[in-house]
Amino acid sequence: MELDFWNQRWINNEIGFHQNRVNVHLERNWARVCDSPARVFVPLCGKTGDMVWLANQGSDVIGVEISPIAVQAFFDENGLKPTVTDEAPFKRWQAGKYSLLEGDFFQLSTRHLGQINAVYDRASLVALPPAMRQNYVRHLAKLLPSETACLLVAFDYPQSEMDGPPFSVPPATVADLFSHEFNIKLLYQDDVLNENGKFRERGVTRLTEDAYHLVRK
Ligand code: SAH
Repeated sequence: MELDFWNQRWINNEIGFHQNRVNVHLERNWARVCDSPARVFVPLCGKTGDMVWLANQGSDVIGVEISPIAVQAFFDENGLKPTVTDEAPFKRWQAGKYSLLEGDFFQLSTRHLGQINAVYDRASLVALPPAMRQNYVRHLAKLLPSETACLLVAFDYPQSEMDGPPFSVPPATVADLFSHEFNIKLLYQDDVLNENGKFRERGVTRLTEDAYHLVRK
């Protein structure tokens, strides 16, 4: 999945992945993953309002997002006036508890990110095609100190019934990808086919949204 693909999606406003309400899995599970305010990393953050929810819990939020349209929209839609500084190859957009790095996740280093205590990944891993996922996980692992807790929200559906993104990332794939560097606990699998008409229209007959608690080894 090339960066141009995503930039174009934002230019065309083809952002079906964006949710207008806070993700229910975040609300339900965050306290199990992270029980006090933290510095939370949100990879491939888009303009998700989940970052506002996290900040309202007292956390600082550090996101990374390739599209300047998404980053600008996040601040505009939340009535925030960010300061923007050059931190090549990133631009850092900062306001209040939010620090969004505009640029490519794969170029991130701990120098940009600072110390992180927790990670929230919703629609980020599943945005990437199979060939990029191992690199994503390896890179994420490099950025995180031992004990970092992550909430991962992934879709599981028969991949033969629809092309991604979002791609299907079933429990066996999560195990393959993460078990080397993370301890994995599947919190639950939620049948979400009924509320996802777009998947049904495209022929999907089974769809769960799965929440995992991962801890960096
Ligand atoms: N997590 C968000 C967005 C998910 S869609 C949400 O829940 O709404 C995936 C997002 O990742 C898109 O906004 C896309 O522009 C961004 N993206 C894709 N590849 C990226 C990369 N390599 N670096 C930074 N952002 C990327």
